[in-house]
Amino acid sequence: MEHVNISFMLGHWGKRSRPNDRGVSSNGYVEAYENLKLMADVAIAIEEKTNKAIRVQLLCDGNYSERAQRSNQIGSKLFIAWHLNYTPGGNYTLVIYDHRNSSNVGFARELATAIGKVLNIPANVWSSWDPSKQKPRRGFNNIKHVNAPAFILETCFIDNPVHMKRLKQNYDSLVDAIANTIINYINP
Ligand SMILES: [Zn+2]
Repeated sequence: MEHVNISFMLGHWGKRSRPNDRGVSSNGYVEAYENLKLMADVAIAIEEKTNKAIRVQLLCDGNYSERAQRSNQIGSKLFIAWHLNYTPGGNYTLVIYDHRNSSNVGFARELATAIGKVLNIPANVWSSWDPSKQKPRRGFNNIKHVNAPAFILETCFIDNPVHMKRLKQNYDSLVDAIANTIINYINP
């Protein structure tokens, strides 16, 4: 059966230079664990909803460059790096799109809007180019080796206990909203 490959990359985790990098911890949450669960559940939802017309590659091992290469090898049509970083005052959902392809902004807006609706928080979209510093944002390392349209997702911020509680309380709706947005974009 014909199918389309997409890739989800766990932020942090398997970098050989930092083997115990689980991202940030706050309020009893560990970033990499929360993201691993969410991205795996979205992957399962996408494969079930499309009867595997879309297959999701989960990338956890190796450094960011190695993970990007594995996505490139299977010709992925979409690449999302998943984070729940620590950002004091972070009261929004954020999708960062690859500044090398400005047409990516459309999907970034759709994904941020869908998540913002479920969590009832503002939806932000940024380019991976930082205009004030005249260089790519720090997180660009997540996606700079990726051929596919590439995005960094901050579903919300781990040090915001209200938003993390909403993430847990609306978990199934959140999984559905993210999965449906991706399916509509890939349109298999
Ligand atoms: Zn992170």
